[in-house]
Order: sequence, then structure tokens, then C-alpha cells
Amino acid sequence: YSFEELNLKPEILRGIFGNGFETPSSIQQRAIMPIIEARDVLAQAQSGTGKTATFAISALQRIDAEEKATQALILAPTRELALQIQKVVMVLGLHLNVTVHASIGGTPTRNDIEAFKSGVQIVVGTPGRVYDMIHRRFFRTDKVKMFILDEADEMLSSGFKEQIYNIFTLLPETTQVVLLSATMPADVLEVTTKFMRNPVRILV
Ligand code: AMP
Repeated sequence: YSFEELNLKPEILRGIFGNGFETPSSIQQRAIMPIIEARDVLAQAQSGTGKTATFAISALQRIDAEEKATQALILAPTRELALQIQKVVMVLGLHLNVTVHASIGGTPTRNDIEAFKSGVQIVVGTPGRVYDMIHRRFFRTDKVKMFILDEADEMLSSGFKEQIYNIFTLLPETTQVVLLSATMPADVLEVTTKFMRNPVRILV
């Protein structure tokens, strides 16, 4: 079906069309609806499928613009990917009043602390820095309703397993989990069985 049929906020549709997208890709057709309905979603998808816009659009749709607290947390395995995701969220959310912050290693923690104080609504980050911010109570997680793990196989194989498990335990129990991974090794399956509830499974 079309983007119009997803019942998105009109500002998001403007962002989508303004970005030159005309029709949803396969993963977008199958995953956006269940994510917006707050289901846990497990998607096996490679880069190039439109996976970033899938969760960016869904997160923008789920954010309450009036609530000035972090509502969505997106994790990525590298700083470069986190910055790329932040850009996609900002471009698609251009006409919405939603704030997006990248919380990544190698940047001054002062920037993070100020962003969290101002009540940033979507956080895109790498596991180490994000865990540090939560642990030090600058990042308050009580309003987080959505936890997205992009390239989960890469994150889990590059030594972030402990931080990711710690982050899970510090999020509200009701937080929706969306996990994307190109492959499904044992470490990823373990996360899905430990932390996901009756996920919708999508293979692109
Ligand atoms: P990704 O899988 O997130 O790495 O995205 C791959 C590329 O597809 C990016 O350059 C996106 O801008 C582009 N893209 C994503 N969704 C669409 C769409 N519905 N129509 C056209 N291009 C898209």
C-alpha cells in the first residue's frame, strides 16, 4: 500500500514526500504498521532495504511532541551509523516539533548532559555512551516507550553485549522493542527471547 494509507501525522507525510520517497519499500510496508501499534518487531533486514526510514517514521509517529522527555532510544553499533540515523530522523521529522540528539562516544559528555537537561525526545546513540548517561542519571528513562536496536548482530559481536543488557534492565518494563539485524546468530536470538514479547517477525 501507499504512505497515505499508513495514517501518519500529516507533517511526517510531508517529510517523506519532501525527501523524495514515493512508495514504501517492502520492509516499510510490513513493519511500520505493527511498530506504530506498539508491537515488538523483529526484522531480518540488510542495509539498502529502507530499514532506517522504517524505524525513523515509526518513532516520529509514536512521539508525543508535548512530552519533553526522552521517549525513543535508538542504538547503533558505530558513531557514523548513529549520526546517519539521526540525520534521517531529522529530515523525515523536519515539519514536526521533535528533538533528536546523538549520544555517541568520542564527543564531550557536556553536550549530552545539556541535551538531556533540555528534554530531548529521541536519542540515537552507541551503547557505551548511552549506558554511561543512563547510569549517571543524566538520561532519565522513565518516559522511554520505544527501544530500537539497529544492526543488532554487529552490536552484539563488537563487545556491547553487557551494556545492551544493562540498558534493557534500566528501561521501563513496558518499553516496546524493535530489533533489526542482517543475520540471526545465537547472541541476537538470546536477546529476542530474553527481552521481546511475542514479536512480529519480518524477513526482508
Ligand atoms: P537503508 O536500508 O536504511 O540503508 O536505506 C537505503 C536507501 O534507501 C537510503 O538511501 C534511503 O534514502 C532510501 N530509501 C528508503 N526508503 C525509501 C523509499 N520508500 N523510497 C525510495 N528510497 C528510499
